[in-house]
Amino acid sequence: MTIDERIISKYTFSVPRYTSYPPVPYWKITPTAQQWLANLTLDQKDQKDQKDQNQQEVQVQVYVHIPFCHALCPYCGCYRVHLPSGTVDNQLQLIDNYLDDLLREWTLYLDALEERDIDIRKWKVQMHIGGGTPNILSAQQLARFLDSFFRDKKGHKIRCDYGSIEINPTYLPLNTNSKAATDDDFFQVLASFGFKKISLGIQDFNPHIQKIIGRNHSADLIEDLVVQIRKQGFEAINFDLICGLPGQTLFDFNYNIKQLERLRPDSVAYYNYAYIPTHAPLQQRLQEFAMMDDKDKFSSQIFVAQQMQSLKYLAIGLDHYVLQDDRLANAYRQGKLIRNFMGYSVGTNTSAAGVPTSIGILGIGASSISSSKKYFVQNHKDLAVYHQSLMAGQLAIARGHTRGDLDLLVDTIIQEIMCYHQVSNLNVRIEQLVSLSQGELTDTKLLQRLDDMQKDGLIELQYKNSFLRVTALGKFFLRNVALAFDYLFERAQRKSENDLQQGVEFSRTL
Ligand code: SF4
Repeated sequence: MTIDERIISKYTFSVPRYTSYPPVPYWKITPTAQQWLANLTLDQKDQKDQKDQNQQEVQVQVYVHIPFCHALCPYCGCYRVHLPSGTVDNQLQLIDNYLDDLLREWTLYLDALEERDIDIRKWKVQMHIGGGTPNILSAQQLARFLDSFFRDKKGHKIRCDYGSIEINPTYLPLNTNSKAATDDDFFQVLASFGFKKISLGIQDFNPHIQKIIGRNHSADLIEDLVVQIRKQGFEAINFDLICGLPGQTLFDFNYNIKQLERLRPDSVAYYNYAYIPTHAPLQQRLQEFAMMDDKDKFSSQIFVAQQMQSLKYLAIGLDHYVLQDDRLANAYRQGKLIRNFMGYSVGTNTSAAGVPTSIGILGIGASSISSSKKYFVQNHKDLAVYHQSLMAGQLAIARGHTRGDLDLLVDTIIQEIMCYHQVSNLNVRIEQLVSLSQGELTDTKLLQRLDDMQKDGLIELQYKNSFLRVTALGKFFLRNVALAFDYLFERAQRKSENDLQQGVEFSRTL
């Protein structure tokens, strides 16, 4: 693939990552807790009815956020909290208190379901535990939390259909004191509760890059971990890596690819580094290290994509590579791949048009985001505020959004682009966009934008077949292709009407 600097500079700017539509900075009209619960259970009730009619499974995705970290890595932009120094007993107690809050929040959901006569034992729950550092929990804490979580109010077991967890390999093993468990015990607990996937946050295998970003895990340590995880019978191992970290050069990618070839994880998320120092002030500490320019970043992304292809990985969505028999590869082939706040996963819910949707996430924990078809809500980030709300018997909702028909239509289009690199029924959708936006979007404007991207080689348009296909080049600018349909981004760009919340930025395309 040739590198055209004009294309790089034209399409490299701050763009949403589209893990939701609308993205968080555009949110407005926060639902009340009552509205949120009523609508969420209504969505689930619809699925239940659908199950009765079609014999389909009722599934719900649960995201659990563990915000604590042993140390704060300077490159990181996640919501996380430095575990205060003190005795290990004190630290474990603080984590225990937080786990109690998580269970209080979950109980509020169980109460709401019970009130509406929905039997959670008929659900198949898919849980993802993220952070922060989920493996900051001891094995005993993890077991206590999962055992309480996967029970209804009468103590009956709830089914865990699929579980995945993020692990920071720097802090394994977990035997930090005599009371805590070993990493073996930690993985055994996960396996016993139906967890199938372990995601290792490696970021970069090169020791000199790890030093810059505050990590310390050799390739040998990762290999030991992979052996151990496989021995426990987990279905899948994912590696998270980052392209564009401070200090990285094109040469560093060779070493990373060699490790992927050697260790062969089931999937790899090779993210583009989200450098937003105004949002994540610790990133300012990294300014002394050279960052690749856009051209080198683009070259490294091309290198990674080509190498992953030669290693027989399938490229799906944005930045994701999966082995051909991985669960996400099957979902991609079957049209069940979805993108939401948790990244890519397998969807079972479908829109009226039969397209997989991102509805139905319960986000548990400080800062967690939940979604139903109509609403988004996000919990308070402040641990004290989160705790106080739950102690008062209330969900800790800090903000949210109420989606209208136009939002849902744009969401469906963007899902298709971000998962499958295409838009089907293009002509109909353009008509619907123009009609629902009541003049804000015109077909002339939309078609001009699409034609322009076609001339630049990012997409191919077949108006006759009502189809848009993202090209190999366009896959590196997938967010830009999605942007063409994002009426709120365009509205925010117009100076006269600034919908963006103060101080929020998106990461750059490259
Ligand atoms: S990268 Fe992970 S371990 Fe490091 S600060 Fe961020 S969340 Fe914590």
